[in-house]
Amino acid sequence: MTPTTDYVLRTVEERGVRFIRLWFTDVQGMLKSFAIPVSELDAALEEGVGLDGSALEGGARLREHDVIAHPDPATFQLLPWRPDAGVARMLCDISLPDGEPFAGDSRAALRGVLEQAADLGFTMQVGAEIEFFLFAGLPESGPPVPLDAGAYFDLTPLDVGSDFRRRTIDYLETMGIPVKASHHEVAPSQHEIALEHTDALSMADAISTFRLTVKEVASELGAYATFMPKPLEDHSGSGMHIHLSLFQGDRNAFHDPDPATPLSETGQQFLAGVLAHARELTAVTNQWVNSYKRLAAGFEAPQHVSWTRKGAGGLVRVPTRRPGKAAAARFELRSPDPGCNPYLTFALLLAAGLRGIERGYQLQAEAGDDDATSPDDLLPQDLREATDLFAASELARDTLGDRLCDWFVANKRREWEAYRRTVTEFERKAYLPLL
Ligand code: GLN
Ligand code: MG
Ligand code: MG
Ligand code: MG
Repeated sequence: MTPTTDYVLRTVEERGVRFIRLWFTDVQGMLKSFAIPVSELDAALEEGVGLDGSALEGGARLREHDVIAHPDPATFQLLPWRPDAGVARMLCDISLPDGEPFAGDSRAALRGVLEQAADLGFTMQVGAEIEFFLFAGLPESGPPVPLDAGAYFDLTPLDVGSDFRRRTIDYLETMGIPVKASHHEVAPSQHEIALEHTDALSMADAISTFRLTVKEVASELGAYATFMPKPLEDHSGSGMHIHLSLFQGDRNAFHDPDPATPLSETGQQFLAGVLAHARELTAVTNQWVNSYKRLAAGFEAPQHVSWTRKGAGGLVRVPTRRPGKAAAARFELRSPDPGCNPYLTFALLLAAGLRGIERGYQLQAEAGDDDATSPDDLLPQDLREATDLFAASELARDTLGDRLCDWFVANKRREWEAYRRTVTEFERKAYLPLL
């Protein structure tokens, strides 16, 4: 028995836990769960629990096949929104019955890339600023109703919003997810909570947990929280800015002592890798039809592949370093939205960056204030274009394997087809009076 397993068994006993939720993630990053009674916990930790692997395929699910879910004891936490029910959760790694990692498991895919990075002596640190809306409820039709008219960093009076942020942060911290800051965002009813940076696997687990926590707290307060990237046409969408850096031991490999240099050579090559592959990876960082409504509309969301030290609006911002803060050297990727699969997103960003280092990619020039953009540095304009680029991405296939890529593409093509056939409000408004 490992010390962590021992800790899990002791806590279950001491805290009167009665049910264990086993969580895993499908190809689109949706959290799935099944529960086992405490009497099954020993066996689950030792041998894993059998499961139909097609549950990881998303809506494009084909046929049943057997896989084994292995609860990761390091992720054991009591669920704070069920304080009396005695419910805890663990995240699972999914394997085939013979013990090989299951090729359809996003968490395993991320672990795979993390091992490649470790072989090169690197670990990746990730920070995330997660934006979302809190609405009065989930409307049956028409736009959702905001709960406040607050704006950027507004201190709204004691309303659902501030209660909500306080309780969310409370729950997150009891589950071991430290929060860096929270504030009211630009749009009415829009909030941002930034999570303290950590290793990529913990951050992907934290983001999955975060999304569920926010939804639980909203429903406790009679509201509805959404991570939909662009719920309101005339307002800012919700992004999930990602801060990335590489470490060698406890040294930040992106740091350069010369303040005039944005990042070390390693940092520049890594960033060059992310930029070079940004377009083909957009299907993963922005995986829904609606994601492209956010990217199309401006409101500080990026539209083309560029980097800068000053403005917002670009795809990547390299924050100005404060003296003595070598460990904080990093860059911020602004395209991802909070509806992405964080495991696949981090796996691919890390793979792109490592490729930049291994192949010595050259960082493009910093964007100026009024640089004209060319059509080939535009991010994909819609999910169809993004999916085509992804389907042809050698980097994605090398990193995730064909099975995961094919599942992902099947889901996205299916979504695009359904969207393509939909007659929208836009069309009725424009064409009924005209034609
Ligand atoms: N909401 C903006 C986006 O879509 C970001 C705004 C901000 O954090 N400055 O990315
Ligand atoms: Mg922010
Ligand atoms: Mg923000
Ligand atoms: Mg930001």
